[in-house]
Amino acid sequence: MFIFGHLGIGLRLVRPISARKGRRDEKIRLPIRWILLGTLLPDLIDKSLFYGLLIAVGRERASGSFISGTRTFGHAAIFTILVTAIAAWRRSRVLAALSLGMASHLLLDNVGDRIVLGRENFSLRGLLWPFAGVRFPVFPYHSLAGQLHRATEPFYFWAELLGFFLLIPEIWPYIQRGPIKRWMKF
Ligand SMILES: [Zn+2]
Repeated sequence: MFIFGHLGIGLRLVRPISARKGRRDEKIRLPIRWILLGTLLPDLIDKSLFYGLLIAVGRERASGSFISGTRTFGHAAIFTILVTAIAAWRRSRVLAALSLGMASHLLLDNVGDRIVLGRENFSLRGLLWPFAGVRFPVFPYHSLAGQLHRATEPFYFWAELLGFFLLIPEIWPYIQRGPIKRWMKF
């Protein structure tokens, strides 16, 4: 899944937890901007790491290294669990929002893989790292262009479109405010 799929579908998926009534009927609302950042964070971390390496040493050597693809630390469930544990320990709404967004990212990526790749090629190795092996999955594309080309597959195309239309009504009230106020109140 790409940007809008993660932002829009991810935000909608976590809403029962991120915007709910507390025990004393008070409204609990986690900050949307941190949820949104969380929905993209695994890709921001792992794609930066891998593509940085790919530019520095070339595709062959990058794929053969420890950072062997775009599903590494950020896409390992243990990383999201760690952020969730710190959120609970520090009672941090920011980290709680971030970890919820990250959890939605992992769910959507793996559901998407299962649908697109089929049962034979689907693997939870990246998600279960390091418990399913210490090596991360190897980058299956020739280049960034090859990865972006996936967006033309029907599943990704419709997921992006759905994500876009789910995202706009959620963030519209914030867009209508001025740019500084918008960021402060998000
Ligand atoms: Zn991802």
